[in-house]
Amino acid sequence: MSASQQKPPKGPPRLFLSPPHLGGTEEARVAEAFASNYIAPLGPQVDAFEAAFAELTGIPHCLALASGTAAMHLALHCLGLGPGDVVLASTLTFIGSVSPARYLGADVAFVDCDRATWNMDPELLREALHALTSEGRRVKAVIPTDLYGQCADYQRLLDVCALFGVPIVADAAEAMGARYGHPSGAGGEDGRHAGAQPGLKASIFSFNGNKIITTSGGGMLASEDGELIRRARRLSQQAREPAAHYEHAEIGYNYRLSNILAAIGLGQLDVLEARVAKRRLIFRWYQEALSGLPGLSFMPEAAYGKSNRWLTVLQVEPQAFGATPEALRQALEAENIEARPVWKPMHLQPVFAGGRVFGGAVSEELFARGLCLPSGTAMTRDDVARVATILRGSVRRGRP
Ligand SMILES: *Cc1c(COP(=O)(O)O)cnc(C)c1O
Repeated sequence: MSASQQKPPKGPPRLFLSPPHLGGTEEARVAEAFASNYIAPLGPQVDAFEAAFAELTGIPHCLALASGTAAMHLALHCLGLGPGDVVLASTLTFIGSVSPARYLGADVAFVDCDRATWNMDPELLREALHALTSEGRRVKAVIPTDLYGQCADYQRLLDVCALFGVPIVADAAEAMGARYGHPSGAGGEDGRHAGAQPGLKASIFSFNGNKIITTSGGGMLASEDGELIRRARRLSQQAREPAAHYEHAEIGYNYRLSNILAAIGLGQLDVLEARVAKRRLIFRWYQEALSGLPGLSFMPEAAYGKSNRWLTVLQVEPQAFGATPEALRQALEAENIEARPVWKPMHLQPVFAGGRVFGGAVSEELFARGLCLPSGTAMTRDDVARVATILRGSVRRGRP
């Protein structure tokens, strides 16, 4: 449809929560993939994407897949998760983090986050591991989520897990470009990439359309364990044995990333650093534009790392602010602006009703008070001002 055929827009254009933002080279890279005729879930673009990803993150072994959820599924499969086993996962997360444990017939128990980071609370994890293991449960994995692009405190979690001999699969789906840790004495050092902390069994990443970089849909499983990635790679291709005919000794999956989509991913990796810088800038714009408003606060940034600020997330105290987060969401929607609640904790989801949760009050409060603001990297300062004006206009007048 040409521009002249389109209906004239009614109001200002819609501001989405986190739309895709191409860097400029993706189309040419896709054209290269077309020219080579590798229209398949393997090919030079997939190989190059995995290599570039390993280089960027410092995680040596990488497997490009159809989604982040598929990556988690393969990681847990490779750990031997099955019926009777249990995993401990962050309750404040997206369901793709934990549904794979259920695909494998295992139970999921949840751990609350702490207020300082909104990520898995290491002390609660210790209690949870102690409780479950003393009941004789086999805890096969711990799955902390790097919420909204802020790394979980990997080292503290690893120290706790070491006491119980339980591996960690980090859900870094939202954390591309985030950093963890400050190596002592190394001036200017920025720590490691999300999911790259030594000792993690594996890490998963997502390139879904709403993430900080995207392939339209896709994921990555990454590990320092080359054997795990070799096994996952075989499972991701229907577990074919090396033979000219089709030979199968176990059941696998069809989970590989399309070569065409890997071409998009290559273009997106080039702009990751710029995307992180822009998300952090948008966060600062919001901070400035909303400063001084009563009852508003932002997701804190942990001292141990650098968030990618995938989404700018607010906490709203309705009493002080004079409006609920839901009223704000609706006020924004009325102006064609998309905002969302914070993830609904998994222990409150009907599908996990009756399940175990350790703690829970912190994530419940964050859910009740949270609001995710539009944070796409193509946003301008004027776009941020447009959102801020509506929020400012919602402060109750004449409050005490
Ligand atoms: C997006 C996301 C996933 C799943 O990724 P997909 O690529 O959409 O399957 C998993 N965990 C978290 C925390 C996510 O935000």
